[in-house]
Amino acid sequence: MANPDIPNVPDTESLDPEDWEDFRMRLHRMIDIAVDQMERSHEGRVWTPFPDEIKSLFDLSQTGQSSEQVDTTLQKLLPYGVGNTHPRFFGWVHGSGTPSNLVAEIAAATMNANTGGRNHAAIEVERLVIEWCKGLFSFPDEASGLVMSGTSMATIVAIKAARDARLDFKSRQEGLGGHKLVGYTSTEAHACIARAFDMVGLGTDALRRIPVTADHQIDIELLKKQIHNDREGGFEPFLIAGTCGSVNAGTIDDLMALSDISETEQLWFHIDGAFGALGMLSDRLRHRLADLERADSIAFDFHKWLHVNYDAGCILIRSGDTHLKSFSDRPDYLKSAEHGLAAGGTWPVELGPELSRGFRALKVWAQIAEHGEEKLGRMISRNCEQAAYLGELVEAASDLELLLPVSMQICCFRYVPASASDVDLNSLNEDIVIQLQMSGIAAPSTTRIDGKTAIRVNITNHRTAQSDLDVLVGEVRRIGADLTQSH
Ligand SMILES: *Cc1c(COP(=O)(O)O)cnc(C)c1O
Repeated sequence: MANPDIPNVPDTESLDPEDWEDFRMRLHRMIDIAVDQMERSHEGRVWTPFPDEIKSLFDLSQTGQSSEQVDTTLQKLLPYGVGNTHPRFFGWVHGSGTPSNLVAEIAAATMNANTGGRNHAAIEVERLVIEWCKGLFSFPDEASGLVMSGTSMATIVAIKAARDARLDFKSRQEGLGGHKLVGYTSTEAHACIARAFDMVGLGTDALRRIPVTADHQIDIELLKKQIHNDREGGFEPFLIAGTCGSVNAGTIDDLMALSDISETEQLWFHIDGAFGALGMLSDRLRHRLADLERADSIAFDFHKWLHVNYDAGCILIRSGDTHLKSFSDRPDYLKSAEHGLAAGGTWPVELGPELSRGFRALKVWAQIAEHGEEKLGRMISRNCEQAAYLGELVEAASDLELLLPVSMQICCFRYVPASASDVDLNSLNEDIVIQLQMSGIAAPSTTRIDGKTAIRVNITNHRTAQSDLDVLVGEVRRIGADLTQSH
């Protein structure tokens, strides 16, 4: 019975606009604001701390606001990104996004597709994106994949598939059952691999971190020795995780050697190619990446060097059968049918941990469809040329020191004043980077190379021009000199 004290909700009410013409104009206004913002992405500061007065506008204590009020608040937010849409954003590894991706995002938001499964267009588009990826890495027809939020998630899927394949999929019910599985990666590998070991119940100690050579590649001899010692010690080696593009230095492990060892030792060969794998598109890098095709799984990101707007990454697994067996587990309410909406072959929920998931694949598809492999590849090549150019500028400057050879798109260097004897170079270089960020001029990050603090410049940015690197070097030297004098 209806409670007479609570009025019925009228069935004319919904969350749709009351006036669609008004809504049309509202959206047009927001698009104008967005396009203005993107058109000016070269201008102004790289990063600006989020001011308290704008943050307070987001306080949800006052809700039920007018659309005008909401849109004004949204507009005020736009300049306060991390800075990765600016040509002088050089921190960590961030892609810079594209305006054209906004169009795909509108289309995806309009459909509001849930791509966990069932029989609809979004699932088919994702499959075509995965097919494109398989072609790029010369993976076999039976390979499978999934568009995910990023390499961290993709790595979890890969490590779980490798674990389950090793334990004959019994691990899905029984856990490790006393098996002492161990895997291998280098000390330069990304932290997401250890996190994946943690999350799939192997524990981070089960990931052996093998030291790197002077070239910052995994030391193959030490790796072989560790595998041998582990077998002697009653452990069960099951996986090698190679790095194709390390975060510190952009180096690529000897993938052929890793693949050979994996074959001999019967290990799963995973590759973290978060940014590096899509170097396959670049004439400059492709010849160094041929051995990606030998991997059992590759995790990589579209939101880095393909500049797809955040977030979008991918897992590819050579054996689609293994992939499916590691994740498929459809309860009755998700059973498929031969026809109708519940049809449609393998559902994405059978290939990864998520049931409800958005239509990330559409913006990936749009980026590839519109810009094409060649142009996307040229943008990657240019970033590598720019990093090499920066390396030359550094080597030509008497007060700058290159800390690692430039391998791909990352250049690590530091400021070393002529009268350096009593200066703490690590804190000086940290201060230089903070001043660059705070001044809004540029945004590199820092890392440590052999105990030395490096100014780390990563260029995965299709807006960066050579002149931006001239500005960067000039400012590093100016700030460095200032700080040394005031010291
Ligand atoms: C960025 C990155 C990751 C993590 O990827 P996310 O997309 O941020 O989850 C892993 N490995 C490497 C080498 C990376 O550069």
